[in-house]
Parts: sequence; C-alpha cells; structure tokens
Amino acid sequence: MHRRCMGRCCLVEPRNDFMHELPVTQAILDTALSAAQQAGAARIVAIDLVIGELSGLVDDSVQFYFDILSQGTLAQGAALRFQRQPARARCLTCGHSYDAAPPLAPFCPACGSVHLQVTGGRQFQLESIEIDDHPTGSAEDSER
Ligand SMILES: [Zn+2]
Repeated sequence: MHRRCMGRCCLVEPRNDFMHELPVTQAILDTALSAAQQAGAARIVAIDLVIGELSGLVDDSVQFYFDILSQGTLAQGAALRFQRQPARARCLTCGHSYDAAPPLAPFCPACGSVHLQVTGGRQFQLESIEIDDHPTGSAEDSER
C-alpha cells in the first residue's frame, strides 16, 4: 500500500475537476441564448469568451461540448473566440511580481518564499456575442 503523500505534495499539483468544461460550457450557452433572445436575434454568429490562464479550462474541450450542446439552438454553428487572461503573482516576502503561468510553481522564483498572492487568471466569462438578425437559408425576398 502506497501512502507516500503526506498532504504537502498535493499542493504542488492543483487538481482540476474532471470534465468541468461541461457545466461551464452549458452556463455560457444559456447566457448567450438568453441574451440573443432578448436582442431578437435569428442566430448567434460568434461568442467571445475570456478564460483565465489558471482556470484549467481547455479551449478544445469547451468547443467540443459547445458543438454538442448548441445543436438545435440559436447558437448552433457559432464560432467561439477565446481570449486568454494571464494571472499575476506577487511574493509577499520580497515583493517580486510576475506573470503566473501554469503549472503554477508554489514558491517565489526570486527568493523561494511560499507566501504568494495570486490575482486573476481563474475567471471564465462571456465577453460579448455577435448576432445575426436575418435567418440564414431564407431565400424569400422581403415584401416591397
Ligand atoms: Zn520572493
């Protein structure tokens, strides 16, 4: 029986929830759909998303789930545009400030202190949506 983990080592590798893109993508889709309906859109052309570097979300996974979830909705075929937002880390011991890119080292690169303050980088939000007022595939001319 292996019991090498005494708790501390688990801090080095933050675990991401398995497949947590699914509920997140569903939430994004719901938000986009309600916004599109309020705007009277015929369909959603594109969705701009802001993803924090530390959110653990993978673009391809979000796109994968989105393609499935959006079928039969106004958002079907919409393009997802991802904008990555970096996190900032600041050492509380020496004041060193730097971009915190994953995998996040649990100590300061300047002095080795573990007293770090990480800000940003965990958000996942819908920035804006691009909509089309005219249904595609409608070949009929409007009345004159
Ligand atoms: Zn430091």
